[in-house]
Amino acid sequence: MISGIHRPTKILVDLAAIKSNVENEIKNLKSGQKLWAVVKANGYGHGSVVISKTAIAAGAQGLCVAILDEAIELRKAGIKVPILVLGITLPKFASLAAENDISLTVGDLDWLKQTSTFLSGTKLKIHLAIDSGMGRIGFNEDDAFLKANDYLLSHPEYDVEGMFTHFSTADCHDLEYFDSQVKKFDHFKKMLRIKPKYIHCDNSAASLFNRQVDSDLVRYGIAMYGLNPSSAPHGIEIQPKFTLQPALCFVSELVFVKQIHANNAVGYGATFKADTDEWIGTVPVGYADGWQRSMQGFKVKVGDVYCPIVGRVCMDQFMVLLPEKMPVGTPVELISADAKAPNNIKAVADYANTIHYEIACLLSDRVPREYLNKF
Ligand SMILES: *Cc1c(COP(=O)(O)O)cnc(C)c1O
Repeated sequence: MISGIHRPTKILVDLAAIKSNVENEIKNLKSGQKLWAVVKANGYGHGSVVISKTAIAAGAQGLCVAILDEAIELRKAGIKVPILVLGITLPKFASLAAENDISLTVGDLDWLKQTSTFLSGTKLKIHLAIDSGMGRIGFNEDDAFLKANDYLLSHPEYDVEGMFTHFSTADCHDLEYFDSQVKKFDHFKKMLRIKPKYIHCDNSAASLFNRQVDSDLVRYGIAMYGLNPSSAPHGIEIQPKFTLQPALCFVSELVFVKQIHANNAVGYGATFKADTDEWIGTVPVGYADGWQRSMQGFKVKVGDVYCPIVGRVCMDQFMVLLPEKMPVGTPVELISADAKAPNNIKAVADYANTIHYEIACLLSDRVPREYLNKF
């Protein structure tokens, strides 16, 4: 998708905020623990290469991505720190990973056997995934795990760099399920016949909320972007130990302003009809930019006033109800980086009945990212 650099719509990313969120977390680490920054999905929409470089400059010692292509992108950008692909990679691409010194996730013995045939002479770094209760990927039975351990003992093409699990409820108040996952992970640790360098399970929530569990690495995702992982729609957030600084701000401008009269409608489906004379502004942002149709009715900041979106959000534009005539070129702020602003990303996510993770990573490549406070 082409980036719209000739349109007054952009995402501003404050790198000083990313730096502060990484540095504060590093102070918060347990002794010996390392921080690996999670930059999957284009750095949660913030831009993977710039965020990776910023995180490394701030002290991150490794990176995690979801798919092999994201890892290769970082290598092509000259990034040298360890990179782990958290998802399952097709066996036939394992040599590509090995050549680029990229670590892959292993979820079962079959994958190891298939992948071996593609690793002629190259050594592949792997992390064993344990499904301790997330129900997504990884070993979840003793037998299969023991067999994989035996297999690895006699297959030097694999360098077992890590073993990890992922929590499904580290952000919740009730820790019963979390504790059951810790227990299951501990059980798998005891079965290990090889000694991985990193045994890890902390995500942002487990680390920030001080969950009692050992983890050599923190896979630091959402909190690096300044967002609280405890964010169930309309739920009560658990507060982290330090103040997170949101980095992302989504802005545009009014490109068209007009007066409409009683009974004039706005947008597809004519869902908004004026009762009286009104001023309507048009903003060049739509669902193709990741600004979803469910945002109809939400108030964005136009100049200094919060104005409701009227009519349906179109693919590339939406309309706002203005309190009075306002000039073309008036700034519009869709998402504020101020966590207390009414249009902060959590408020946007609540309105769309989702979580801020989804809002951030759906922001499309059509919107250029501009970086503030580079260092
Ligand atoms: C996405 C992801 C993370 C990061 O989670 P946050 O909640 O963003 O900190 C960590 N580990 C795995 C396996 C993931 O998929």
